[in-house]
Amino acid sequence: TRLTRADLEALPAYVPGKSVADLTRELGIAEAIKLASNEVPFGPLPGVPEAVAAAMTQSHRYPDMGVMQLRDRLAERYGVSPDRIVTGCGSVALAEHLAKATCLPGDEIVYAWRSFEAYPIISAGVGATSIRVPNTPGHGHDLTAMAEAITERTRLVLVCNPNNPTGTSVRKAELDRFLDAVPSDVLVVLDEAYREFVTDDEVPDGLVTYGDRPNVVVLRTLSKAWGLAGLRVGYLVAQPEVAAAIRKVLTPFSTSLVAQAAALAALDAEQEVFRRCALVISERERVTEALRKLHPDVPASQANFVWLPLGDRATAFGAACEKRGVIVRPFPGDGVRITIGKPEENDALLAAAEAAL
Ligand code: PMP
Repeated sequence: TRLTRADLEALPAYVPGKSVADLTRELGIAEAIKLASNEVPFGPLPGVPEAVAAAMTQSHRYPDMGVMQLRDRLAERYGVSPDRIVTGCGSVALAEHLAKATCLPGDEIVYAWRSFEAYPIISAGVGATSIRVPNTPGHGHDLTAMAEAITERTRLVLVCNPNNPTGTSVRKAELDRFLDAVPSDVLVVLDEAYREFVTDDEVPDGLVTYGDRPNVVVLRTLSKAWGLAGLRVGYLVAQPEVAAAIRKVLTPFSTSLVAQAAALAALDAEQEVFRRCALVISERERVTEALRKLHPDVPASQANFVWLPLGDRATAFGAACEKRGVIVRPFPGDGVRITIGKPEENDALLAAAEAAL
């Protein structure tokens, strides 16, 4: 007898990066370096551990289900009304809720491929059909083809900008054209998990540029630039009616007490976040340039990682880096995603890359 859905057997699992502890133990070295999960490497922001400790005095109580303080804070930050904001257990959970709120089984979700590996899982979770639109030869979204892929069954389009794992981004002119081409009854999610690392002025801030479009939702996270990956806080900004529908399918209390407190403290440390992002950005440019000397086809990245399109050599490259104590993220047969770390971690990565290529 089968207790779970047969179609899930063929679904690839989400693969987390190997842990620092595991590789450190395996190699018997002082400490492995992890450049595999797009985390920012500088530890918790000042004020966050204290806020978490303070919140713990109430850990026997449910958190505020409406997440009012944090939503008010984000609303103020972005100049929108709080009823347009929904928070969740990481932005990946919100993407899941967006799929639940838009798709019935057999409906279609359009996204670029390769893009964020959670998209196929989210799509399968609601019984939707994934329509994967191949990236351009430059490893970025083909927005023209994505618009053409929309059918009467399409309910949701996911645009990852900058794109995980290739680091590429779409610019305003092409995104304008794309959004104008999308039917008004199809919801477009601009997944801007890496927005804080964007330096190209032509890559639009979804909230500023498209926030007023009725069928656009902007998805953001506090996991990356804001350093809260371990506490799981994401948020989205949508039109009030869309936000209300998403709230109906939310897992109750899914933004935990600690997550809410930590998010508020992180938002207080904005200046430090900008400082950290600036360092990551300058290291990104340095690493990109160095990797291009080893492999010419490294696309420009607007995120906190870079993409090495090694094709069939991706797995071997990942293994070679691990032998040297550096964990990266190979996507077999396709490429390797390398998160930007501290300068000395990036040096170790570049040494490993030079030996491997
Ligand atoms: N969107 C993109 C494009 C991502 O790369 C990630 C993290 N890998 C997420 C969403 C989810 O991040 P989180 O759930 O930690 O907010």
